[in-house]
Amino acid sequence: MACLAFLAGCQRDREHHAQFFVFGTVVEVSTWGATDEQVGRAFTGLQQMFQAMHRDWHAWEPGLLTDANRAFAAGEPFEANGQIITMVRRAQAIEELTGGRFNPAIGGLVGLWGFHTSDYPVIGPPPGREQIDALLAQAPSTLDIHVDGMSMRSDNPAVQLDFGGLAKGFAVDLAVEYLRELGIDNAIVNAGGDLRAIGSHGERPWNIAVRKPGGGVVGVIEVDGDEALFTSGNYERFRQDQTERYPHILDPRTGWPVKDVASVTVLAGEGLLADAAATALVVAGLDDWREVARALHLEAVMVIDGTGDVYLTPAMAQRVRFTEDLGTVVTVD
Ligand code: ADP
Ligand code: MG
Repeated sequence: MACLAFLAGCQRDREHHAQFFVFGTVVEVSTWGATDEQVGRAFTGLQQMFQAMHRDWHAWEPGLLTDANRAFAAGEPFEANGQIITMVRRAQAIEELTGGRFNPAIGGLVGLWGFHTSDYPVIGPPPGREQIDALLAQAPSTLDIHVDGMSMRSDNPAVQLDFGGLAKGFAVDLAVEYLRELGIDNAIVNAGGDLRAIGSHGERPWNIAVRKPGGGVVGVIEVDGDEALFTSGNYERFRQDQTERYPHILDPRTGWPVKDVASVTVLAGEGLLADAAATALVVAGLDDWREVARALHLEAVMVIDGTGDVYLTPAMAQRVRFTEDLGTVVTVD
């Protein structure tokens, strides 16, 4: 059952705000310069949309996606909906472009690691190596899925979709699209610090906080137009045993969590790409992030490593204004 809070009617000047609860995060929607009537309709409509996404896209609560995964395991066709088909197609392209570093077909592996939960940290030792290797040997990939209209099937029974790496981004995109349909052109849809901003805050741009590993803010970016900013990291959701921490982003090629970088922040034209790319670049790590960012045609990327050193593309270096000292800041062309 979707748990959803709805607090409309909070207004400051020409701003309106509402909060929704979806995928275990608070989504805050802010608008500027819209009428009461527009936001009334928008917030009611968004509540319904987020509720449907939660129900249809959830990786482990019973719903459309868990039904799809059961059909994949049985080798049967499954009638999905347009949003799921879109996510599958986009995921297939991103899996290819990232050389398999981003792979939402590894739901079996994510579940094996105990990350199909809302309760973090997960406590206890990692799963057995044999179990991980057995799943790895089946090589689940989104490219095993064949789409025909709204129908899809997998020729690999090990494919288990888990859209945790891109669902928030796509949700933010769909919300922005809906706001625009209602004539709202100045807004931020913010899912726990990952967001897309459109238009401006009246006379000034939107000021966006850039999240940092361990919580807090490392800097600010001004957005005037239409951009998404997403950060993925190994600092919020992880498994903890007596000595080690195992973050929730897995390398699909090894089956093990990645620890190389503390966080990756991506600025892109849409939420889905920014979200998926941030996850993919965490997997790419310090050695490969630049190359994978190029393959995804990303311009503005920031990587923070475990010691607090910062690596930026030139486009990101131009945009971010640091409000806090970290380690060394290096621009990588
Ligand atoms: P967050 O939800 O904390 O913002 P991400 O956007 O990075 O983090 O998504 C992480 C989630 O994506 C994991 O919880 C899991 O569901 C899924 N996932 C983990 N590793 C991968 C991967 N290599 N490719 C695609 N999805 C992944
Ligand atoms: Mg992501």
